[in-house]
Amino acid sequence: MSLNGKTAIVTGSNSGIGLGIARELARAGADVVLNSFTDREEDHALARALADEFGVKARYIKADMSKGEECRNLIEQAGACDILVNNAGIQHVSPIDEFPVEKWDAIIAINLNSAFHTTAAALPMMRAAGWGRIVNIASAHGLTASPFKAAYVAAKHGIVGMTKTVALETAQEPITCNAICPGYVLTPLVEAQIPDTMEKYGMGREEVIKKVMLERQPSKEFATVEQLGGTAVFLCSDAAAQITGTTISVDGGWTAL
Ligand code: NAD
Repeated sequence: MSLNGKTAIVTGSNSGIGLGIARELARAGADVVLNSFTDREEDHALARALADEFGVKARYIKADMSKGEECRNLIEQAGACDILVNNAGIQHVSPIDEFPVEKWDAIIAINLNSAFHTTAAALPMMRAAGWGRIVNIASAHGLTASPFKAAYVAAKHGIVGMTKTVALETAQEPITCNAICPGYVLTPLVEAQIPDTMEKYGMGREEVIKKVMLERQPSKEFATVEQLGGTAVFLCSDAAAQITGTTISVDGGWTAL
């Protein structure tokens, strides 16, 4: 399939799942806008590499997704937004009665509020273009809970709810809004936790992955950023034109348990 001529904005895309999704969208022919809150040479180099590899236009725009105005500016600065992937997200793990207020506020701002602001700014552009795709990166934690992740679980359930509402508001237009719910994905963030966990449990790498990290993932395998990118590309295809307001789990069976 070809996304030639479409512009995709992927929030939080200088690493991990966001970068993986931007890569697959570029491979399918979309021009891509990468984003994070930093403004380093290496951030811009990521965009140049995608442009060189796939022959599309690619650029990096700095915007802090914890700030509503910067979320809206990202969309305005991009100038076009046919595909919006709300991916930026952070995590903090703590019992709720000890949960630091600033961590709660940051998680709700980055993982949930940012998608409100970007969606509000992008919808008029999609309507003007007569086509649009909104893909929200939720989580298995948008459908189930785990202890000590109150803010993350609340934000991810929130984004699943917002996905349904936006889908209903756009149901009679050529615009869809869906959420992808990944289980554990091997991103640099997750990879970095493996050595510490090996030491903590006195286990080898494979044992830590299967018995600790993937305890709730029946496949006992990580999902990959390429698989998530492929799912996002599918949601942008004509085959998915009537798929809206739903969740697609890429979780190795987690939510079937
Ligand atoms: P990651 O840390 O590699 O990526 C997070 C991205 O968000 C980075 O590009 C980071 O720079 C960006 N970001 C963080 N704060 C930001 C801010 N204030 N403004 C703009 N950008 C910001 O992690 P990831 O695993 O790739 O996570 C991406 C998304 O996938 C998140 O929403 C996460 O909740 C979700 N997710 C991840 C997993 C997993 O196992 N890795 C599972 C389910 C859902």
